[in-house]
Amino acid sequence: MRSSWGKLAAAVAIVCVIQPAHAASLPDSFQEKSWDRLSDRQLSDWGRKALAVDATRWRHGETTHFILHYLSDGELIAHRSESFYAEIREFFGNRQDLLAGQKSQVFAFTEPKDWQAFMRGTGVLYAIGITRGNEFFYLATGEDGRFDFKGKVQAHEMTHLVFNRFFVGQLPLWLNEGIAEYFGQRKTATLAEFRRQMRGSPRYTLDRLFAVKSYPTNPLDVQSFYAESAILVDFLTMTDQRRVLLPRFVDAMIRLNNVNNAVTIYGYRNLADFEYAYRFYRAGF
Ligand SMILES: [Zn+2]
Repeated sequence: MRSSWGKLAAAVAIVCVIQPAHAASLPDSFQEKSWDRLSDRQLSDWGRKALAVDATRWRHGETTHFILHYLSDGELIAHRSESFYAEIREFFGNRQDLLAGQKSQVFAFTEPKDWQAFMRGTGVLYAIGITRGNEFFYLATGEDGRFDFKGKVQAHEMTHLVFNRFFVGQLPLWLNEGIAEYFGQRKTATLAEFRRQMRGSPRYTLDRLFAVKSYPTNPLDVQSFYAESAILVDFLTMTDQRRVLLPRFVDAMIRLNNVNNAVTIYGYRNLADFEYAYRFYRAGF
């Protein structure tokens, strides 16, 4: 999904599969609060627009890292948010949270009609989740109207939101979306499911992927752009040894955006070497 500071636009939909809830304990830190008692009531124009939709029904709460606005399922949303935070922080090597002390704002809509009313007010054509700055807006229910336990959209967007707490600077589009889509698709599925889902997408050549400066608009291109980006991040993280290299790779790409140089972190001599190895890996999909 499109995300990040100031980049606003349409996003693609992810079809969510509803799965039974995991019997997980609820976060100790979750507290439902009235609006007046929230520790931070500074919202962007989008935040204010969100709460203006069905204004009397919003409920609010806080966890250690999030201020949550929701219409139902507050504790489930709180739990998933903090679980993601912990997972993403660990994935990126437990680096320092640059926004420590500042909570991210999450707006969880329940009704598709409310979500659509909010979307109309933002000018975004279509999305089911969008991250903007330190705020994340999404439709928390699946196609059957119930809480979406699989949460692929939340996983994707929450990755953008939490990632922005640990890294400063602009990532190339493919890597920014690849990391988010990796969490949205790969980490919410088994490897076999992930491969099955990705297999259906036409390939997006690496030359083209690395050169992308703006979001594709053709639906088939959108699908293959996200899929190829996620597969590439899976390739970069497929073993524990490779996974620990990802934060360094990300730092290098933020610094120089020179993929030919950054792949040497993984022991490849150059991009041609990297592409050769990727071709074999990709053939397994
Ligand atoms: Zn995204």
